[in-house]
Amino acid sequence: MADIIKLLPDHVANQIAAGEVVQRPASVVKELMENAIDAGATSIKLIIKDGGKTLIQVVDDGVGMSETDARLSFERHATSKISSAQDLFNLETKGFRGEALASIAAIAHVDMQTRTTDNEVGTHLKIEGSKIVSQEVVATPKGTSISVKNLFFNIPARRNFLKSNQVELRHITDEFHRVAMVHPNVEFHFYNNGSEIFNLPGTKHRQRIVHIFGSKMEHRLVPVNEETEVVKVSGFICKPEFAKKSRGEQFFFANDRYIKSPYLHHAVVAAFEGLIKSDTYPGYFLFLDVDPSSIDINIHPTKTEVKFDDENTLYAILRSTIKHSLGQFNVAPVLDFDHDPNLDTPYSYKEKGAVIPKVTVDATFNPFEESMAKKSSSSGNFHKQSTKGWEDLYEGLGNQNDHQEFSSVVIESESEEQGTLYSGKEAEEHLASTFQLRRKYVVSTVKSGMLVIHQNRAHERILFEKFLGEITVKEGVSQQLLFPLELTFNKQELSVLKEIQESLTNIGFVFESLEEETVKVTGVPMMVPESGIGTVLDRLIADYMEGYANGSISQAEMLAKALSRNLAVRTGDVLDSESQLMLVNNLFACKEPNLSPFQKITYTIISEGDIDKKFN
Ligand code: ADP
Ligand code: MG
Repeated sequence: MADIIKLLPDHVANQIAAGEVVQRPASVVKELMENAIDAGATSIKLIIKDGGKTLIQVVDDGVGMSETDARLSFERHATSKISSAQDLFNLETKGFRGEALASIAAIAHVDMQTRTTDNEVGTHLKIEGSKIVSQEVVATPKGTSISVKNLFFNIPARRNFLKSNQVELRHITDEFHRVAMVHPNVEFHFYNNGSEIFNLPGTKHRQRIVHIFGSKMEHRLVPVNEETEVVKVSGFICKPEFAKKSRGEQFFFANDRYIKSPYLHHAVVAAFEGLIKSDTYPGYFLFLDVDPSSIDINIHPTKTEVKFDDENTLYAILRSTIKHSLGQFNVAPVLDFDHDPNLDTPYSYKEKGAVIPKVTVDATFNPFEESMAKKSSSSGNFHKQSTKGWEDLYEGLGNQNDHQEFSSVVIESESEEQGTLYSGKEAEEHLASTFQLRRKYVVSTVKSGMLVIHQNRAHERILFEKFLGEITVKEGVSQQLLFPLELTFNKQELSVLKEIQESLTNIGFVFESLEEETVKVTGVPMMVPESGIGTVLDRLIADYMEGYANGSISQAEMLAKALSRNLAVRTGDVLDSESQLMLVNNLFACKEPNLSPFQKITYTIISEGDIDKKFN
């Protein structure tokens, strides 16, 4: 029997190999862009026509190739990147197989122009189906430009298998992102059918991600940084509230190479556990740096799958690093997907637990004293009286001038049972590190960095919750006026006053009668200065009418909003240090400290990391 084994001709072998390396236009894009990176390019241009079916061109300003190298680069297993098997374990480049150009040239029409810095003229090569069809000397800029036309022209089955131009373009864009993201210092341009779809200037990782995914990313990214003996992890995760139902913003890079790793993905998801819904995916852009000898990228021709020596350790490090970032940047606690504010018990006593009522005896009680008798007979009103008794009247007299000035602002302390950020010795320490900035912000320190509170909005939030609570549970404390105040209202205002009288009484207002246009006020909430009563009531009525016209919310809420708006300290008010501390404490004792009643941000935390960045 005759021998039947033959060596396949090169072009057939190349075609078979090409099937492994080049699955679709996006594979060509990946190979050409990676070659440009390996050539040290600082600027890379990608030009695509018809989803890459008609043209894929990559132009770089890298080192270029000599005439001989240019010809050799299309031979199979021709590479400048490794020379021994040992080099495989110390890869610093993207390419190493020396197969890409040979494979591409086997299944397409390739046109290459390249020039090194040392040569004044470059080389122009045309190759079709592995055959060199022309070679010329050419004047060309330093670097390399490779055009790939008519992909799979000689493998119709493959060509027919390609998807629509849009789908192919999407695959190409994915590859483009992966390369661009990991080389933020390199400038990239991407043209599709003549129009520029990406123009990425050289920058840093964060900005590159923002340039690629849009400015909305800016506020979503939380930095991740950890350096251990096994791995250096850097990059960003997206805040949990931006987790998406679809995949797409998950990126792992190992030693500057895009990789897929279901195992490490799981580590990230595990770190987000409890913070995102189970059917959503967290976004992440994570760069792992490991010792090149501890990673094997040789197990798959398209090289997105890698094998790490110590995957279990990597998993643990990754998971804890991300947990740490989530905690450090305060992203964890704000999440409560099923939270429905309407179901909350107002100013809730639910956390406080049950307390055994104390029987208190008023030692100064004199049943024969008229005012006392009145006090005890008006049931339910007891709390609205000043708790401190008659001394308050004198106190008011002595400080009358102070009380009449809006600008000297003192923020009262909330009840002690409420949770506070600082107390006792801690409070003293923080008092020293709390200060007012431009009469607008109160600045303090917290564990993760610097706390900046908008004094007006924060106080609005505090007062809003306080008044809302008082209106609902009727516990407002009243200060009795020494001389009842007479105020005049028109009919409409009067009718509004009557409508909200009960709520106003609950928070500490005492009206003698609301029948005449002249109204006698005999008591006001503790925090309303006597001189401001008229103004506060006027504004309150106006706000209430406006709010009422808009409808929708409850009277209690509307009033609490109006009161907080009118009574909160303002920008420009000077706060003494105790008031500053009180503001911090009371704000964080609120149920929803992060927003003012008018849905404005009340505070921000500038993390240590953010400050560090300013010094870079
Ligand atoms: P590999 O990248 O695995 O070495 P390729 O087939 O992609 O294999 O490239 C073969 C060789 O051609 C490379 O090793 C490199 O020397 C050279 N080469 C390819 N593209 C470029 C380029 N854009 N600039 C300079 N040299 C290049
Ligand atoms: Mg290559």
